[in-house]
Amino acid sequence: MHEAEQKLKDFAQSTIIKKKYRISDRITHFVGYGHSNTILVEGDTSLILIDSLDSNERAKRLRHEIEATTGKVVKTLIFTHGHPDHRGGSAAFQDTVEEVIAFAPRRPLLKHTDRIQDVLNRRASRQFGYSLTEEEVITQGLGMREGRAVKDGNYDFLVPTTIYRNEERVVREIDGVTLELISAVGETDDQLFVWLPDEKVLCCGDNFYACWPNLYAIRGGQYRDVAAWVDSLTKILSFPSVALLPGHFQPILGEDTIRETLTNYRDAIESVLTQTIECINQGKSEDETVRSVALPERLRDLPYLGEYYGTVQWSIRSIYHGYLGWFDGNPTNLNRVPSEVYAKEILGLISDPQIVFDRIERLQSKGEDQLACELCDLLIHAEIDVKRAKKLKSESLMTLAQRQTSSNGRHYDIASAYELLEEAK
Ligand SMILES: [Zn+2]
Repeated sequence: MHEAEQKLKDFAQSTIIKKKYRISDRITHFVGYGHSNTILVEGDTSLILIDSLDSNERAKRLRHEIEATTGKVVKTLIFTHGHPDHRGGSAAFQDTVEEVIAFAPRRPLLKHTDRIQDVLNRRASRQFGYSLTEEEVITQGLGMREGRAVKDGNYDFLVPTTIYRNEERVVREIDGVTLELISAVGETDDQLFVWLPDEKVLCCGDNFYACWPNLYAIRGGQYRDVAAWVDSLTKILSFPSVALLPGHFQPILGEDTIRETLTNYRDAIESVLTQTIECINQGKSEDETVRSVALPERLRDLPYLGEYYGTVQWSIRSIYHGYLGWFDGNPTNLNRVPSEVYAKEILGLISDPQIVFDRIERLQSKGEDQLACELCDLLIHAEIDVKRAKKLKSESLMTLAQRQTSSNGRHYDIASAYELLEEAK
């Protein structure tokens, strides 16, 4: 087994732990009951739930457990953000819930985003490995696989009944509990965190989870504002939390540990952001920027910054495009010839395409599969023995999948390899 694959397996082992953390008399953090976590806050006569797991079946089991142990029912739901893995189980509470609270996105989705849903869904399926086997997936990155991927229920959403559109901070008294909801744009534009001042507990949603985050998600989407994300982490740090309850993975406990972890996490993201901006301003190309930017030595090997979900490289590319757009400044690229024309031109310089196929196989035998993929693309674009080129590319993608620690990248490669094999039939 390749070292990267083993690392991802070890990461999965250490993170997929089902555990109920009793944080205080009122607050329980349910970890590993679904793909995402949920937080139970016990009011005087009812229950408040922060996020609701990813599937209706899982949420029904949770409901059964919490009703049995508390003798109360869930009357209030709070969503930390709109991602479906945090809301998918919400309808399991529909006959008891009286209020569903969420923040609206601070920067609305671009108009017509709904019209690109087909391709976003296809890419999301590759990223999350929905069509892959357990062995191929290893982990869905941020926890156990979603219920919908393993026949354990489906998305079943409740629509929010209270939506705060512009508020930075909302203080609510709900059934004897004081909760502060604070806007924190980052992983999403509608993200909020919940501060429980009486217990000094902070529920941070997905602006912190213990691995390198998806500053860019390869399934595609609008630019995630990395500078705002850094500011939101600074905002979270300004609260004297004794327990930090994230939307994925285990809680972080103890004021000093929380401060150190969040500071390093924030510094790492900020460092990648500011280094990338510096390179942009020096006129460096995107590839030169990727080669130049690196995490500071003191942060490089921290376990909660491992590239098991997002990667530093994808983050750099996203920031580069976020600030400059698609044009890299090289006038050659202003009006490029179609890739088919370019590929035919290059391959026309070679007397026999067999030379290229031989080279691809040689590269594969040396483990240089990325370059092999790029040569396969030349053949595919030039429409030369396309089926053979697709088969070779799918082999290289399978190899590349094993050599990376990012679960998202792994799934995307394997799912794409299967699609290519299907096309090559
Ligand atoms: Zn999440």
